[in-house]
Amino acid sequence: MTPALSLSACAATAWQATPDMALRVCVASGLLALAGWSAARRLFPGQRAFVALCVVMAAWIGFSVSEHAAVDPACKGSIGLLAWTAILAQPPLWALFLFQYLHGQTRVPSTRARLLLALPSLLLLAAALTNGWHGLWYGPRSALGAPIAGLARLHYDYGPLFGAAIVVGYGWTALAYALTLRGRRLAMADQRTPWNVFLVMMTVPLAANAAYLLAGVRLFGSDPTSIAFAVSLAGFAWMIARNRLFSLVPMARRLLFSELPSPVLVLGPSRLVIEANEAARQLADGLPPPGTPLAQWPRFGAALAAQLPASGDSGSPVLHLDPGTDGERWFDVRLRNLGDRAQPLGLLVQLHDVTAHERLQTGMQQRLAEREAEQARLRELSLLDPLTAVGNRRALEQRFAALAAEGRPLALVLLDLDHFKRVNDQHGHAVGDAVLRDFAAELRGAVRAEDLFRIGGEEFALLLPGLDAAQALRRVQQVHERVHAAALGGLAPGQGFSGGVAAAPPHAAELSALLAAADAALYRAKNSGRNHSQVG
Ligand code: GH3
Ligand code: MG
Ligand code: MG
Repeated sequence: MTPALSLSACAATAWQATPDMALRVCVASGLLALAGWSAARRLFPGQRAFVALCVVMAAWIGFSVSEHAAVDPACKGSIGLLAWTAILAQPPLWALFLFQYLHGQTRVPSTRARLLLALPSLLLLAAALTNGWHGLWYGPRSALGAPIAGLARLHYDYGPLFGAAIVVGYGWTALAYALTLRGRRLAMADQRTPWNVFLVMMTVPLAANAAYLLAGVRLFGSDPTSIAFAVSLAGFAWMIARNRLFSLVPMARRLLFSELPSPVLVLGPSRLVIEANEAARQLADGLPPPGTPLAQWPRFGAALAAQLPASGDSGSPVLHLDPGTDGERWFDVRLRNLGDRAQPLGLLVQLHDVTAHERLQTGMQQRLAEREAEQARLRELSLLDPLTAVGNRRALEQRFAALAAEGRPLALVLLDLDHFKRVNDQHGHAVGDAVLRDFAAELRGAVRAEDLFRIGGEEFALLLPGLDAAQALRRVQQVHERVHAAALGGLAPGQGFSGGVAAAPPHAAELSALLAAADAALYRAKNSGRNHSQVG
């Protein structure tokens, strides 16, 4: 007979019970209790999938028990087909639970993801429940066999769609294995034991199912897979309760990630922000929706995106943020490739706030610059005559040394105001000061500012680089005319001065010798009628 969905057959059938059923009902009840226990536990990764798995496994055992208890083969076939609602739900749930548990995920997958997970099972279920029309799941040679443990069992004629269900189921199992093996490979060497236990527990139902399908091994006369799954689930429950290595470490990692004070972003292909911790969101003044391109993140997205290398994690850019509500900020940006080195899947971006350090550094640089400027000002002041703002004697020495080092010929002129004492005596010291200032101003017209010096009360010196004594004398002559015509200190014009000129060579290249020669010439000018200059 071809098994078909027939609820009327089950309404009419007689039911029988055997002692092993009590055991299986106990296991199913145990699974329901486990579902309740798991649901009541504090959140652990894959919790919902685990609870659903327990319920689905209990249902599978329930279907299996009732199939055996029904006497009418038509009802047995109906229940056998209905059991696929549980059998088909189990592999994707199993893979989902393993994935979430091993990756420490506590989030419920999106509706789209759940639909995708369920789609193969839903299609297969439709095929199973309509077996009465096509017989491609269980074929027409399905028939009652010899009684086992006192009850006749239905031996199914497996059709191609049944084979497809087995292939899909094993596909899911292979995926679950791959996930676990990957987790084991990534785990540190001393943390592999729980992974090994995990693998063994996954193998129990697989071995039972393979033994049933390939060698006809039965437990109490029926498929041992569901009971083996129940054993496996109990094992997992024990691990969840006792050995929290898998759940605690990923949870701690997630917590660390979300609470890290430094902003961290996970970028996927095309620079989409797949994940961002709390600090990164705060920096962006809120929460841009997941999948927003980095460049569109408020405040720092555009600046950061512009600084990232075109590919890979080379370089360590610095991110500078303009003053926001909390002022200007600087971040060191650290980049790490995610996944394969040669073909990275994404980029981990860590921002380290170095604002305090940067501020300290700019503050220090500023203070240093201020101090240097102050020192330069003091140095300048120490070379200036305060009354006339021309160089003093020390400035003369420095300038002479600099010019002497160049080895060029130069002339030195000493100038002394004539009868200056009288100005003071007749007009007062203040007018005397004004005369000195105006005299210095007149001298500025004759030489460059750095070649003019006040070296005594009313005594000035000029350096004339490149000039010999005769040229220097001619230059001083012009000064005599200009000073004579000027109203120094607001007094009537006519103030004179005497000058002494010396040049190197022929005079010794020492400043003291040159000064002495000029002084001697000045002395002669004073003694020979004043108001003119002589060459030493
Ligand atoms: P001689 O023609 O021989 O140089 O006569 P003199 O009066 O200029 O020379 P003397 O050396 O006798 O006098 C110089 C005067 O310059 C004496 C001093 O009071 C005055 N003197 C020196 N330094 C200053 C100053 O800074 N301000 C004023 N107002 N007077 C000064
Ligand atoms: Mg004098
Ligand atoms: Mg004088």
